[in-house]
Amino acid sequence: MSHDSNTTTATSHSSLQQSDARFHLHPFTNTTRLNNKGARVITHADGVYIWDEQGHKILDGMAGLWCVNLGYGREELAEAADAQMRTLPYYNTFFQTTHGPAVELAEAIASVTPGDLNRIFFANSGSEAIDTVMRLTRHYWALQGKPWRNILISRENAYHGSTIGGTSLGGMSGMHKQGGPLVPNIERIRQPYWYGEGGDQSEEAFGLLAARALEEKILAVGPDNVAAFVAEPIQGAGGVIVPPASYWPEIQRICHKYDILLAVDEVICGFGRTGNWFGSDTFNIQPDIMSMAKGLSSGYLPIAAVAVGDRIANTLMAQDEDFNHGFTYSGHPVAAAVALKTIDIMKNEHIVEQVRDNTGPYFQKTLRESLPDHPLVGHIEGTGLIAGMALVQDQASKTLFPSTLDIGLICRDHCFDNGLIMRAVGSRMVLSPPLVINKAEINELCQKVRLCLDLTLASAQQAGAL
Ligand code: PMP
Repeated sequence: MSHDSNTTTATSHSSLQQSDARFHLHPFTNTTRLNNKGARVITHADGVYIWDEQGHKILDGMAGLWCVNLGYGREELAEAADAQMRTLPYYNTFFQTTHGPAVELAEAIASVTPGDLNRIFFANSGSEAIDTVMRLTRHYWALQGKPWRNILISRENAYHGSTIGGTSLGGMSGMHKQGGPLVPNIERIRQPYWYGEGGDQSEEAFGLLAARALEEKILAVGPDNVAAFVAEPIQGAGGVIVPPASYWPEIQRICHKYDILLAVDEVICGFGRTGNWFGSDTFNIQPDIMSMAKGLSSGYLPIAAVAVGDRIANTLMAQDEDFNHGFTYSGHPVAAAVALKTIDIMKNEHIVEQVRDNTGPYFQKTLRESLPDHPLVGHIEGTGLIAGMALVQDQASKTLFPSTLDIGLICRDHCFDNGLIMRAVGSRMVLSPPLVINKAEINELCQKVRLCLDLTLASAQQAGAL
């Protein structure tokens, strides 16, 4: 480690900011630009609020990174971790051993997953869960005597993580440009983004069209070459794109018709976000396999899982051979204990029902009512406690701002400066607050959203873009 770094940082930076600028390489960040500005140091958090080093109290409209579903400061989760660390801080599940937290968590997950998704494989992150889905769906077909059946189909603008597998499967062009070559035999179809790409078609017609892109792709590459279709129920990191109601039933029909495995990535939608345990419940999807992470432990510790349905599990287990896949920390006892407690709390406090019947509809309604005819807002979509809105220069023509004016980042910065975390995805603003948010906090959140959009409008006017 060298301390002679010639990195220059403004002297107004706190000592943590200075060290951050010298030693820390941030994910998904232009570190040089960040260093000039100085990263915001978050010091503590409680409920739906976080605080920074300067003492600013900020409403976390993103639940961290879509994960802190139970809010911050849950003592029970800290106690579960503490107790497990003292009893058995680590043991693996590779070599004919198991332990209480992994077993109990597998059972608890199976108790809330839809259909026959009752076999649970553990990982540490959504990316690892997705890599597991990729390997397992391909391996399934190899075990069926069809190793050539290995094409995975996903969607443009999908996010499935940032390992080489997740990057390759996802549809983020900015990621594809870096660190390739990508994993082969991955094909992509269009996303079901009605507002942005539906033209003058009805939502229903566009949903069918977007789903039929899957059928076209399957026919183009040959049905007998396709392993699985992989998709999020609602595209999260892509900007919270809620598919038209006609989309998922058609996808399901096409997967059945061509006997293609349906893998659903529930990393964001899972654990109550859409007002049901899984997005698959909300959209009535019957997956063969499902990845989950984030809300599984409410983000308190890294843990992820893949729920495997009977079709794949029975095929795998009928073999007299190992499944050669796993992670040192698969089913880590401390993370598993915290996840188990998270599910316990969700059940005991009826969090999913709250989101479905109470706070979710209230959030969706209040958000829309806070922004009646706001000139910047082209469209709002969402369900439960997840929402996305398109910022536009002109509502009637849906014209976007020129790329020289990064309207999303301008808005995000106004939010930060006014005590709200709202994330920008290009020109879309997205919200995903903790699932424990109450109505008073939802009111505060929506008032702040309104204020920050007004400030963003003023900034756009000042820049001469309106
Ligand atoms: N899949 C989806 C749908 C996600 O949203 C994410 C993360 N935002 C991932 C996979 C990757 O998860 P992780 O960052 O934990 O690797």
